[in-house]
Amino acid sequence: MPDSPLIRARFFDGRSSQPIACLLSLLPTRGKRGVALRLHALPGQPGASGPHATRGLALREFSASQIEWPDAGDTRVAVIRFSDGSQAQTDDPQGLASALRAAGYRRQGLHALAHVMAGSWRALLAGAAVCTVLTLGLWLYGVPLGARAITHFIPERWDTELAARALQTLDQAWLRPSKLSAERRAQIGSEFDALVKKAWPDGSAPRYRLEFRSTRLGRGGANALALPGGTLVMTDELVALAEPAALMGVLAHELGHVKGRHATRMAVEGSLLGATVAVITGDITSVLATAPVLLATLSFSRSHETEADCFALQTLARAGQSAEPLARLLETIAGKQKAGAASVLSSHPSTPARVQLIRDAAAAKRQCG
Ligand SMILES: [Zn+2]
Repeated sequence: MPDSPLIRARFFDGRSSQPIACLLSLLPTRGKRGVALRLHALPGQPGASGPHATRGLALREFSASQIEWPDAGDTRVAVIRFSDGSQAQTDDPQGLASALRAAGYRRQGLHALAHVMAGSWRALLAGAAVCTVLTLGLWLYGVPLGARAITHFIPERWDTELAARALQTLDQAWLRPSKLSAERRAQIGSEFDALVKKAWPDGSAPRYRLEFRSTRLGRGGANALALPGGTLVMTDELVALAEPAALMGVLAHELGHVKGRHATRMAVEGSLLGATVAVITGDITSVLATAPVLLATLSFSRSHETEADCFALQTLARAGQSAEPLARLLETIAGKQKAGAASVLSSHPSTPARVQLIRDAAAAKRQCG
């Protein structure tokens, strides 16, 4: 190993602010223990042993483990810190970097990555791209998985509280009291009770509570939704549009959402994202406001819809009822949407695929298995 070049530097002993002009040289050590360093006093400086001090007259010497090398990058002064609180500075960072390379110095792990990135715009951009992909991946896959796990630990009484707030938000923004007669509402309710009891005589179906509302959207507001804790909301417009057997299918589908606690999972997902934003902005109020609004604009994921459809198919089959009326209703609603009538049911993904699932035993076997 050739001698390391001498690099002009200033030494600060950590006690006095007075710099000591010196030269530094690197001392490669064997194995992977890194690079040691020797500071040589200059003539006339404190620590020099005489007017002709050379590299043999050491001012100080530091072993590899005592040295914290400076970060790479476009700096004018490189600062080398030592474990005793002293430090050396040089105005020749490039010279130091190449001497370090020549001495076989290698940074390790994340530290090395940080140094590569600090020294290169290209590496920095590549790093930013990798971070973006990781963040997206976390958002698309990690958040739903995390929400599922977290939902498991949320007590069910929270669901009821969430549902009450969401229904309040919905009532203010979008819903009106139902105009259906009390008899009609009771009839639909008891018909569904009987269906659920027949399908799940062991009482394994989730608990639910049926609410009726009309919408401010008029005819376009044919809809039903499942809030956390088993609150099922059905609109007058849907009751007017659907044959009674189809209404049972819709309610069975919504009960599937209750069984999977999909609404709570969605609220948790929203809060996970909201919480991230809150951490960044330091504003927690957005998180408190998120859940009810999120539930009011309920839009389940494709997998949640399939899960709910599968539960509906199972429930109807166990109660000896056909799912065909539900398939026909979905087609009717899809036709109305094409004609321009707005419906929140449009948030349900891919109606033809759902109709196929409901009508086609093979599709059901594939997706509900
Ligand atoms: Zn649904």
